[in-house]
Amino acid sequence: MSHDNSDECFQESLETILTHTGRNPVEQFGFVNTPVYRGSTVLFKTLADLQAQSQPFLYGRAGNPTTQGVEEIITRLEGAYRTRLVPSGLSAITVALLSCVSAGDEILMTDSAYDPSRKFADGFLTRMGVSVRYFNPRIGEGIGELISPKTKVILAESPGSLTFEIQDIPALSRVAKPAGIKMIVDNSWASPLYCQPLKLGADIVVHAGTKMFVGHSDAFAGTISANEQCWEHIEKTRAALGFFTSGDDAFLVARGLRTLAIRMKEHQERALEIARWLETQPEVESVFHPALPSHSDHALWQRDFTGSGSLFSVLLKPAPRASVAAFVDHMKLFSMGYSWGGYESLCLPIKPSRTVVPWDRPGNLFRLHVGFEGVEDLKADLEAAIIRYGRAR
Ligand SMILES: *Cc1c(COP(=O)(O)O)cnc(C)c1O
Repeated sequence: MSHDNSDECFQESLETILTHTGRNPVEQFGFVNTPVYRGSTVLFKTLADLQAQSQPFLYGRAGNPTTQGVEEIITRLEGAYRTRLVPSGLSAITVALLSCVSAGDEILMTDSAYDPSRKFADGFLTRMGVSVRYFNPRIGEGIGELISPKTKVILAESPGSLTFEIQDIPALSRVAKPAGIKMIVDNSWASPLYCQPLKLGADIVVHAGTKMFVGHSDAFAGTISANEQCWEHIEKTRAALGFFTSGDDAFLVARGLRTLAIRMKEHQERALEIARWLETQPEVESVFHPALPSHSDHALWQRDFTGSGSLFSVLLKPAPRASVAAFVDHMKLFSMGYSWGGYESLCLPIKPSRTVVPWDRPGNLFRLHVGFEGVEDLKADLEAAIIRYGRAR
């Protein structure tokens, strides 16, 4: 169980890792869960201990048993060398990017990236002398034409936020690896249960732990996992920036992770059922869900993923703003708000911000997160919204 690695040869399933890794009841007076460790100061007994710096914990900002337990779980799920818990998904992306670049370098970022990642690159990184270029999420090996000696890192997010393009991670990696370019993948949608980017050739994997890991819309967290080669820079960057996750938040992540596999399974089934049903409804132009055969990257998804997430988007036929308001303002179960990954369903009107492949599909786009309400109730909620949308047109 847990901390000791003597059973390394025993191939555990992902579900068993989720339930047993990162906790050691023997060290916690028999209590099942690692409790919330709160603490800044960690004490040393002797001058020799202080000088040796070999205690498992030296100062609270570098982690505690609660944060370490979570890191162990993600490391094993992703097949990584190590993982760090950071305060948010966005900080996982910013620390990962900063760990790869210096002034004068260039990053390549998918045009479908999570919008705050773009803002960080366009604003902060540019100000620090790092340039950014965006690439078509479907570029594959064509990325070779964009790289220059200054290119140090590629940021992929698969599927892309809002529009759900699947990126060909193995193809990107075939170009990046020989050129010494690192590849970061935001794997928040699939979770490590349904995709393991390090095995597909990525170097660093980030998660918005706020979403599926926490799973209850009540805490922020991010994780950065990487191979051994990238690890030192990541940990140095995190430490230099002073990022730290509290034991309280780490406890909520650990608690969420214990049920991740069954939650993902339920989210997957419900989201797919709703997505398939939406494809047959009036007013619906397209449904963007990689597990649907109608999705342009369905074959890539089938090749690289073993399941699908809770989140997808739906494009409704062109209609004025009043129709969008009529759709979202009177929903009874789907609520409107940022984030996703909780037990409750969400529906958000969205506008992709693109620079390389402009989003030119006519109509109104909505992102749905399908939670754990009754599926028939959710369909009824959407059906009524679609009728309101059509009437307001
Ligand atoms: C939400 C999200 C993030 C950022 O996570 P926060 O915890 O909100 O900072 C990063 N990537 C993706 C794909 C997300 O959906």
